[in-house]
Amino acid sequence: MLDSAQRILKDVFGYDAFRGNQAAIIERVAGGGDALVLMPTGGGKSLCYQVPALLREGVAVVVSPLIALMDDQVATLEELGVAAVALNSTQSSDEQREIAERLRSGEIKLLYLAPERLVQPRMLAFLQRLPVALFAIDEAHCVSQWGHDFRPEYLQLGQLAELFPQVPRIALTATADTRTREEIAQRLHLEQAERFLSSFDRPNIFYRITPKDQPRKQLLHFLADRRGDAGIVYCMSRKKVEEVAEFLAAQGYPALPYHAGLPSEVRAANQRRFLNEEGLIMVATIAFGMGIDKPNVRFVAHLDLPKSLEAYYQETGRAGRDGLPSEVWMAYGLQDVLFLRQMLQNSEGDERHKRVERHKLEAMLALCEETRCRRQALLAYFDEELAQPCGHCDNCVDGVETWDATEAARLALSAIYRSGQRYGVGHLIDLLLGRETDKIRTLGHQHLSVFGKGQLLDEAGWRTLFRQLVARGLADVDLDGYGGLRLTDACRPLLRGEVALELRRDLKAPRAARGSHAPSQASQLVRSDERPLWEALRTLRRKLAEEHSVPPYVIFPDATLLEMLRSQPCSLSDMARVSGIGARKLERYGQAFLDVLTDSPQAPAAPVADLRHELVSLARAGMTPTQIARQLDCSEKNVYSLLAESIARQQLTLEEALDLPEALLGEIHDAFLEGDGELPPVAAVAQLFEGRVPGGVLYCVRAALEAELGG
Ligand code: ADP
Ligand code: ZN
Repeated sequence: MLDSAQRILKDVFGYDAFRGNQAAIIERVAGGGDALVLMPTGGGKSLCYQVPALLREGVAVVVSPLIALMDDQVATLEELGVAAVALNSTQSSDEQREIAERLRSGEIKLLYLAPERLVQPRMLAFLQRLPVALFAIDEAHCVSQWGHDFRPEYLQLGQLAELFPQVPRIALTATADTRTREEIAQRLHLEQAERFLSSFDRPNIFYRITPKDQPRKQLLHFLADRRGDAGIVYCMSRKKVEEVAEFLAAQGYPALPYHAGLPSEVRAANQRRFLNEEGLIMVATIAFGMGIDKPNVRFVAHLDLPKSLEAYYQETGRAGRDGLPSEVWMAYGLQDVLFLRQMLQNSEGDERHKRVERHKLEAMLALCEETRCRRQALLAYFDEELAQPCGHCDNCVDGVETWDATEAARLALSAIYRSGQRYGVGHLIDLLLGRETDKIRTLGHQHLSVFGKGQLLDEAGWRTLFRQLVARGLADVDLDGYGGLRLTDACRPLLRGEVALELRRDLKAPRAARGSHAPSQASQLVRSDERPLWEALRTLRRKLAEEHSVPPYVIFPDATLLEMLRSQPCSLSDMARVSGIGARKLERYGQAFLDVLTDSPQAPAAPVADLRHELVSLARAGMTPTQIARQLDCSEKNVYSLLAESIARQQLTLEEALDLPEALLGEIHDAFLEGDGELPPVAAVAQLFEGRVPGGVLYCVRAALEAELGG
């Protein structure tokens, strides 16, 4: 069975290998078993039921909560040449009759339905007369009464177990917590289903959290390298959404607002534009998100703090579903903390509920002030252990400086206490720095013992410190809501000198700027010299998308376009090897893209292909990379990358390409094969050799190993 699954994967979807648990899940469901699948966003859940749908007899029924989501999936499948339809209430009765007819004739392989539609007695009776291949219940966490996305209709899906005892059922969700998982199993009668848990790590996402200073300027800095990328900027309030969207538009960024207060036509239109156009920025409240399946959201920026890690993880998770490098960024400051604390204080609900919410906010704040790897901390919150620091977050890349803040903290706390626990940070800082403002004089605060005692920090330093004290629960905002600070019980040991306090140092601006530069370049998809061809490919994709009335990513995902750009196929059979190009798409679009690749004046594909042929023969003739570079008049770096590419395509062996001493080769092999999972990236191995071996050599060895292991 796995052989046929593999064939479908290649022929229909154009992919070479299953990812993670996909193969096991497909085997289980195609074999008639039930499955409960937990996979992060972008993990590849759809294939888990789409491939079994094609392997089994009958129609696969897919339950999904949102029409937009269904339409997207149906369009994607149609592009692949798979017969799929969605039934929904916007269709006329004629259309519905026609679909029913096609279902009866057995022509349709996948039927997408909203839950309320599926559980109508007429629909159930209709399906009972058809061969049903399987039921897939997408977004299965909607069955959880405690979750944010609860859909009462989902509860009725439990009856499928009884009504269709012979039909396999697969429930899928990206919600990580154990309680939801148990609820899904119980309510959908999937207690016996095999469970497939994936890691919730999103390795392609770069995490960055930065102290809020001048948020708009910081946002512009973050966006500067990202012109042309699609992204989401989250803000807390509707007003701020509109202001920021206007501000970005004025700065020349294509930005649209989205919040629940906009007329529904405007919301729908903005959402459609975000999906269909490239490079739009959506400035939104959290009302925007669920059902946004756009795979190439390249960044998510938070201008305000989410109220829990669950929310943060879900919102940031909308970046990079396609697995390509993406960056999430958040600016957070004292005001955020005060605001959220106050909202909690004033919210309705019982004490227990408030306690839970407070606890969640604390976890969110802890991530902001985290001094270790952000990803380790984030995953730990979801009960997953990451053995090593990730190397792909701000803390890992920039490093974190900490300092002994005990004395400063005690001064700050006594400033709060001595002034009567009612003043905001601005006044407290004036007090500590000994500024004789009108307010200080009126209140007589120049006579307090702490007046002017705070010379050890500057204004910004104190601001950070107050934020950190509040974030750690050592100080709190007062109840009357004027933003005054007061002490908490938790600060007593510190005040009494029984404990010390170690805090992270906010990076100084220039360093932060540098820091945010390096990884953002790494998370950029294409180099500047690749831009022209990339844009040409995107233009063609956009044109085809318009002709077919589908979003561009339905024609080809970015990953596929990127591989075309890099591997420069020069024939249809080369093109067929590109990941994401199945038989149908090759037939429909292969030639058009090939034309762009070969016509493009900036990056002529044919010469690259010629170059590669020549290079292969020169290497076979025994020339070293340096000699080849001179002969072909290109850089050595280029030679190495073409060599690696030819090795990966098995047009050249490693021995033909390079003359490496046996012992060194052994050492490099060991370095790559040390873990038992996937081959580590070259950068990781390069570190071990500390410049002893040129990176190009490592690329070639890795390519050879990959060819060997993959083939
Ligand atoms: P999810 O529903 O889990 O968020 P999707 O099913 O939308 O994820 O898949 C995310 C992306 O990964 C899609 O672009 C999909 O085509 C791609 N994908 C899924 N499985 C594979 C695979 N085995 N090889 C390559 N790409 C894949
Ligand atoms: Zn990290």
